[in-house]
Amino acid sequence: ETINLSELLASTVDHIGLQVEKRGGKIEFQNRLKNPEIEGDAFHLTHIFNNLLDNANKYSRENPVIRVEAKEDGDQVIVSIQDQGIGMSKDAVKKIFDKFYRVPTGNVHDVKGFGLGLAYVKTMLEAHRGEIHVQSEIGKGSTFIINLPKTQ
Ligand code: ATP
Ligand code: MG
Repeated sequence: ETINLSELLASTVDHIGLQVEKRGGKIEFQNRLKNPEIEGDAFHLTHIFNNLLDNANKYSRENPVIRVEAKEDGDQVIVSIQDQGIGMSKDAVKKIFDKFYRVPTGNVHDVKGFGLGLAYVKTMLEAHRGEIHVQSEIGKGSTFIINLPKTQ
């Protein structure tokens, strides 16, 4: 199905934005898509971005500032989701896409979850022939970068 990625991202940003605002934060959405139509599954793409934005909110301390940027690069769209949250070690980053993996809690964070969100995100992105990459630093934050081909 043909999806308007600008609209899909805007509604996801609005939805999680309400939760972020309750914690005194905000989501900044920079949309540089000139031709926002891509082929994909609206349900799964919505849940992919919901999961990533939910994580960016949950794994940030109070007043989270989250940046979302969407742009085109040839036949690909690139969406980055950047937080200034708790960040992760290099070892953790290697495991976060595994089912049920969670960074050990305790002094790191006290957020609840199942460790399934990112496993789902990776599986569904691959079903769209997309990719996801992560840059993270403990105490500084994380950036998740997604590549998606515009046509399947
Ligand atoms: P859920 O199934 O509800 O999504 P979850 O958030 O624990 O549970 P994932 O979304 O798969 O599961 O994330 C796996 C782990 O990766 C998290 O438990 C957390 O430790 C770490 N993580 C994910 N996103 C971030 C982020 N933006 N900043 C810091 N740590 C993160
Ligand atoms: Mg999650």
